[in-house]
Amino acid sequence: MRRSTAGAQGTGRADGADRTGTEAEAAPGVLDHGGGVWSIKVPIPDNPLGHTLVHLLDTDSGPVLIDTGWDDPASWDTLTAGLASLDVRVESIHGVLITHHHPDHHGLSGQVRAASGAWIAMHAADTDVVRRTRSAEPGVWLDYLSAKLAAAGAPDDHLAPLVAARESGRTRTLPGLSAALPDREIVAGELLPLAGRKLRAVWTPGHTPGHVCLHLEERHPRNLPGHGRLFSGDHLLPGITPHIGLYEDPDTAAPDGPAHGASGGGDPLGDYLASLERVAQLGVAEVLPAHQHAFTTPRERVEELIAHHEERLTGLRALLATPLTPWQLARRMEWNRPWEQIPYGSRNIAVSEAEAHLRRLVKLGHAQAVPGSDPVTYTAC
Ligand SMILES: [Zn+2]
Ligand SMILES: [Zn+2]
Repeated sequence: MRRSTAGAQGTGRADGADRTGTEAEAAPGVLDHGGGVWSIKVPIPDNPLGHTLVHLLDTDSGPVLIDTGWDDPASWDTLTAGLASLDVRVESIHGVLITHHHPDHHGLSGQVRAASGAWIAMHAADTDVVRRTRSAEPGVWLDYLSAKLAAAGAPDDHLAPLVAARESGRTRTLPGLSAALPDREIVAGELLPLAGRKLRAVWTPGHTPGHVCLHLEERHPRNLPGHGRLFSGDHLLPGITPHIGLYEDPDTAAPDGPAHGASGGGDPLGDYLASLERVAQLGVAEVLPAHQHAFTTPRERVEELIAHHEERLTGLRALLATPLTPWQLARRMEWNRPWEQIPYGSRNIAVSEAEAHLRRLVKLGHAQAVPGSDPVTYTAC
């Protein structure tokens, strides 16, 4: 596969279609974004998100993947078939850039490396998460989760399944337990060493402590006004507000303590909002996210997301007129369905999201922990 100067061909398919001007589907689920960039829709099994957009970037050293998809045979088949439709053998992949450690992005990295010998690069803060998860006993995770939820005020009937699993030894397998350990570091602010391409890493903590966006600082292939294109991972999506919870660290974080994650400063939502500003300032012409679809209105989308979180913080502050535990706050927050219908695991995620918002309110001086409360309750101030 070679990149054509026109930027919209080079798929090796001589079907004569005019691909300049619009994105063209090279095969089902495979889009040619022009300028040596393609996306492949890789399914995520049993997940409402549907798919991960794995991006393929042509470089003078060989094809490079941005994210890889969920570790599942059907996902692997879709990825390799998509590559084949672009005349790329998975064995020829030169390197893998991972936006963040979540399994829908990093899951297939190990299999790509096994097939090709490609390097795998990730930000150090997320590589730390991968290393911790790989080395953790599932029981350690259960203990951490139980303690964290108890400290957040979760009732006994919610904690019971965790206690039962711990006692029976039936411990859940974490998706990240066998994830590939990256062998290269993505260093924020630096140009990545990719022959013939100008791709710069932008650190965007919030969704995870080591999330990165990748800024392709090259003229847009359709000459759209703005400064190149941005592979935005889960940081900036056209119609989804990414989950912002506490950075999980069973090793070092006290469940109710202030220091979660070495690099996060204990305020993931604050990190996320700052990361949104950083990305808006790049002034990119087009965003290529890891879910949904490409879009050309990054500034507007950033403003929407910031307004959404401001509104939510204002609403939570009003709720805290009555002192509430994080669990009680999560129950009163607005979700996409009534609390009673939220599945067990998603409730845990909801509590983490409530805690991230509480951290932000405390940092802003808009809420405080009630001294001596156990489990801790928060009140507006
Ligand atoms: Zn994610
Ligand atoms: Zn994702």
